[in-house]
Formats: sequence, C-alpha cells, structure tokens
Amino acid sequence: PYSGPKAAEILQKRKQYLSPSMFYFYHKPINIVDGKMQYLFDENGRRYLDAFGGIATVCCGHCHPLVVDAIVNQTKRIQHSTILYLNHSIADFAEALASKMPANLKVVFFTNSGTEANELAMMMAKLYTGCQDIVSLRNSYHGNAAGTMGATAQRNWKFNVVQTGMHHAINPDPYRGIFGSDGEKYAKDVQDLIDYGTSGHVAGFISEAIQGVGGIVELAPGYLPAVYDSIRKAGGLCIADEVQAGFARTGSNFWGFESHGVVPDIVTMAKGIGNGIPLGAVVTTPEIAEVLTLRNYFNTFGGNPVCTTAGLAVLNVIEKERLQENAFVVGSHLKGRLTSLMDKYEIIGDVRGNGLMLGVELVTDREMKTPAKVETLHVMEQLKDLGVLVGKGGFYGNVFRITPPLCFTKEDADYLVDAMDYTMSKM
Ligand code: PMP
Repeated sequence: PYSGPKAAEILQKRKQYLSPSMFYFYHKPINIVDGKMQYLFDENGRRYLDAFGGIATVCCGHCHPLVVDAIVNQTKRIQHSTILYLNHSIADFAEALASKMPANLKVVFFTNSGTEANELAMMMAKLYTGCQDIVSLRNSYHGNAAGTMGATAQRNWKFNVVQTGMHHAINPDPYRGIFGSDGEKYAKDVQDLIDYGTSGHVAGFISEAIQGVGGIVELAPGYLPAVYDSIRKAGGLCIADEVQAGFARTGSNFWGFESHGVVPDIVTMAKGIGNGIPLGAVVTTPEIAEVLTLRNYFNTFGGNPVCTTAGLAVLNVIEKERLQENAFVVGSHLKGRLTSLMDKYEIIGDVRGNGLMLGVELVTDREMKTPAKVETLHVMEQLKDLGVLVGKGGFYGNVFRITPPLCFTKEDADYLVDAMDYTMSKM
C-alpha cells in the first residue's frame, strides 16, 4: 500500500512551487502512484483502466517487466552522456529502429523529446534545401519550442512567438473540413501556399498522420501523396511526425504514414518509443544526415544508454507480444462498438481513428456540429468515477482521445464502451 503524500498535499506543493501553467485532468485530480500494464492505481489503491496511456506514451503497458528490467540493469551498469565515448546501446537501438523504416531512412539522431526531434528535423530540412519556408497543417501540434510552436497551428498552444517562414495549410479534416474526404482538393491549398506565399522553393512540410492533440483527426485519403508531390517539386523535404501515431499504435501499420502510401524524407518520434522514458528520435537518409556535419552537433542526453536500452526493449516487446496485431484487432472491435453507440446517442457526432488511436467527438447538434464541451467534461468525470480514464482534445476540447497501452484487451474495450454507454444513458 502507498503511504506517501496524498492528493491535497501534492496540490498545495504544486501551487506553491510549480509553474502556474501546469494543468491536470478532473475536477478533483487523481494521485496516481502505481501502474501495471493497462491499469493505474491511485493513493487509495483504487484501480483505473487507462485508455489514454499517458497521452499515447505507454505502448507496452505501464511498468512492463521486460522494459523495467532493461532500464534497471542498464542503470546499475552505466548511465552517461552520449558524447565522447562509445557504448553499444545507442548503436544497437539505432540499428533496430532503422530496420523498422522503409527505403533509405537509415540514419538516426536521438533527442529527449518530441519537440526537440521536430526542431531538429525542421532545421535539417532548412539546411538541406537552403530555404526557410515550412508548411504545416492547421490544428496540428508539433511541440513548444520556438520553431515547433510556430509549426503548431492551434491558438490554444501558441504563445506570441515569431514564426518566420511558417505557412499553415487548410486541414484535410474529413469531419469538419470544407472539402469533406476529398484529399486532393485540400492538397491544392499547399500548392497555393507555395505559389503565392513563397519564392516557389520551400524547406519542407511537416504533419502527423493522425492528429493527436488536434482531436484524432485522420487526414483525408489522397492528401499526403498529392502534398508530398507538391513539396518535392518545390525542392522541399517531407517530415512525418510520428510522435503519437508511430510504434504500432494504428494497428494496420507500424508507422502512421504507411497507411497513406507515402515515404517521408525525415521521420520524427517520441512518446511511445520509450514506453514513458524521455526519448525522441529523428530518422532520415544518409544524404540528408550529412548536413549536420557542417558544424559540431550534439545532444548531451539524447540516446543515452538507459533510454536507448529501454527503446530496444520496447521494440522487442512490441514484436514478441504482437502488439501491432493486438492494436488492430482490439482497435477494430473498439471502434466498431463506439460507432454503434452513435445509433443510441445523438450527442456522438463522429467516431474515428485507427487501431488504438481513436477519437469520439461530442456535438450538441449533428447538423451544425456544435461542440459539446460541457458534456464532454461531464462524461469524462463520470467515466473516471466508473474507473476508466480517457483523454480529451481537439480545438474545442470536445473529443475523447482513446490511446491506451497497446496491451489493451477486448474485455477492456467492452468495459470502456459499457461505461460510456451507461454514462450517456443517464444524461
Ligand atoms: N508532436 C506531436 C504529434 C505531439 O503530440 C507532441 C506532444 N503532444 C509533440 C510533437 C511534442 O512532444 P514533446 O511533448 O515530447 O516535446
């Protein structure tokens, strides 16, 4: 049993000593003290089914024994910076990661977060092309440093940073977008941005395959191939942000971009890569990677022995436990059951996503698609009381984000849907 400080005491310390910008879920935030696979436990030993996985950061399951063992053993042996000396773990993990990549995406740079990975990717695109202009999608989230905050296109997450050279394209959002599911029509906007907003040459394009923070928005079919074409004709590089959609989460593929039939020039990743350990990576071609030899470049802890040992253990677990297949099977079942709830409850405007990256959008009016913000919060609180934790996102904060650890079972999925059904039946 847990005997440490309780929620009230922690809240008091947060108020006094931590940034006032820190936020939490739930009216009465829960103090999570233990995790085991798809479950979390609060200070009183109450168990919750975790359908958010720490924002898609946990892919193998909380405290997966094989990942924990790998981390502990490596920590006992040596943990240090990645610069100056050799160590096998960074090399072994880079090799394993490269083996999961298509085409000539074979060179890996490690970072400590998704923000850092995207900053590096965009810098490399600028160096490689000699251009400054980057196109990103409205409603995207790519990080919170100067460049990535510029690429991020949702005012909720943007401070007044200078965003030189950033162009935000119309989001190819099949549910709310102006062209429905016609990917090629949306793609025309990127060509227009290039033609009317730049010299005709750009550094690159960055997008998620499924927008996570943006509320599990799948890009309209046909969009990415057409955009990659426009960007490459303008001399730019295509960057895939796989921070949320990568690592088997979408079920049908290991990487989110694969379902769009494109091969990026640079792929960035974080979150699930380390099952909760701070780690990020940028993978690109040997030719593009050369740009970083123009100056000295390093990242003190990026790719350190403990984190890369964890990363390698994660890849092994995904394979051994067939987590991609599980994400596909359980995700399809869950999506099917969530979709059938739409027949019962008018408030569900849309169910979308792939594998175990699913979204449920609540609206007060299906025709107008009016965001049901208050109701979303209410259902989220009720679900918590029933022992189920889901995430929330989207520009209006009216989309449930369901991104559980990939060990989620059909029974877990049924429990989640039953809890949602029960909650909505009482509204
Ligand atoms: N890209 C995407 C798609 C993300 O969802 C996030 C984080 N929510 C980031 C980048 C930034 O990652 P980090 O918070 O690790 O810097």
